[in-house]
Formats: sequence, structure tokens, C-alpha cells
Amino acid sequence: MITLIEIIVYLGIFIIGLIIGSFLNVLISRLPYKESIIFSRSYCLQCKKKLKPFDLIPLVSFLITKGRCRYCNKSISWYYPLVEIITAVCFILIFVEHNLSLNLLIGCLLVSILICSSFTDITTGLIPNRLTYFGVIAGLSLSYFTIGLKESLLGIAFLFGIYLLAAIISQGGLGGGDIKLAAAIGAFTGLKGSFFVFIIASIIGGVWASLLLISKKASLKTAIKFGPILSIAAFIVWMYLEQLINLYMSIILN
Ligand SMILES: [Zn+2]
Repeated sequence: MITLIEIIVYLGIFIIGLIIGSFLNVLISRLPYKESIIFSRSYCLQCKKKLKPFDLIPLVSFLITKGRCRYCNKSISWYYPLVEIITAVCFILIFVEHNLSLNLLIGCLLVSILICSSFTDITTGLIPNRLTYFGVIAGLSLSYFTIGLKESLLGIAFLFGIYLLAAIISQGGLGGGDIKLAAAIGAFTGLKGSFFVFIIASIIGGVWASLLLISKKASLKTAIKFGPILSIAAFIVWMYLEQLINLYMSIILN
């Protein structure tokens, strides 16, 4: 039975997720253009009108205005509510696994970096250095409390090295941002986790590329956006590393 208190806690975490997601939207729309994150008010990208607090309630504002700007009536990208919902759902998933703990905070931080990287990659094709460098430093510092500094450093070295090699072999099929994001992920997952990040990202990338080829949306020369693929793999590994190791061992031993 779910108690009333549990419902309130889940609802609270969901709402915090929506609010953080709304802040991530600001980062996603500003970081690639080196705009100030804090010292300027949000504005409509179409008519440049400064938005009022009423316009900035996560999800709610979008639903009330049916996805249109209140001032110029132009439609607002559905990426905004999508980012908010994905953030909130991830926060809930992390809470289910880790309850109220340091890992809940670390998981939420990692997922925020991953969501930002994915959506700046999707919308601009870039993953900003400020994001990935921050990820490397945060992952390394926090490893002191979790996987240990050595494991974190080895994770960075493994993922950075393997994707640098992939970039050289594919002659630019992989961008510098992807490689730096991989390094940031390695800082959080450690060497053990990084091995699984590489495997899962390869599987997702392979399936995605095949689907694009079959549906003729891409040719063999099209570079696919790797940021979101790496991010999904990283989230799965960070959340379910133990289960993945067990699964891997049962396959190997059979
Ligand atoms: Zn507008």
C-alpha cells in the first residue's frame, strides 16, 4: 500500500524535477551561444519579449497557452515541456533506486548534465565545453564519496581513449563534444561502468543507425547525433550497473 506521505514525497520530487528541468531549458537555449545563464531574464525566442514569472511555470504555462507565446502567438518548441517531463521522470526513477541519499543528489546532477548535453546536441549539434568540463570535475570530486578517485580516473581514461580512437578511425563521425561528454560520463561510472556504457551505446547506436538507413532518413555518410545515445547508455549504467554485471556474468558463464 502506498501511504499519503509517500504520495506527497513522490509528487514533491516530480515537481522539483519539473523546476530543474525548466532551468535545464535555460541552459540548453543559452550555453551553446555563450549567453549569461543567470544575469538575464528569459525571453521569447521569436518576439524577444521578456517573460513574466507567470509564463515560466514548468509544464503548466505550456499547457495553458497550448504551446504558444502569450505575446506573439508563435508556437513554442515542444522540446521545453519534453525536457521538463524527462527530468522529472528520471528524478523519480533515481529516487526509487536510491531513496533520500547522497546518490540521489549525484544521480540527479548526472542526469541534468546528460539531458543538457543531449538537447544541445539535438538542437545545435554542439555539446558545450562548459557542460562537459563541469561534468568531469563534478564526477571526479564526487567519486571521493562513492566509487573512489582511481576508478573515476580510469573511467575517464577508458571512455575518452576509446571514443578518441573511434573519432580518428571514422574521420570525424564523432565530434569533440561527444568525446568530452564520454569522459564526463566515465568520471561518474568508473572503469567498470564505462565498459558497459561502451557496449550499450554501441548497441543503441547500431540499432538507431540501422533504423535510419532502413527508413532512408540517412545514408552511410550521415553523422548521427551521438550525445543522446551516450547519455541514455550512461543513465542505464549508472542506475542498473549491478544488474548489468549479473546479466553479463550469466551470459559469459553459460
Ligand atoms: Zn513571443
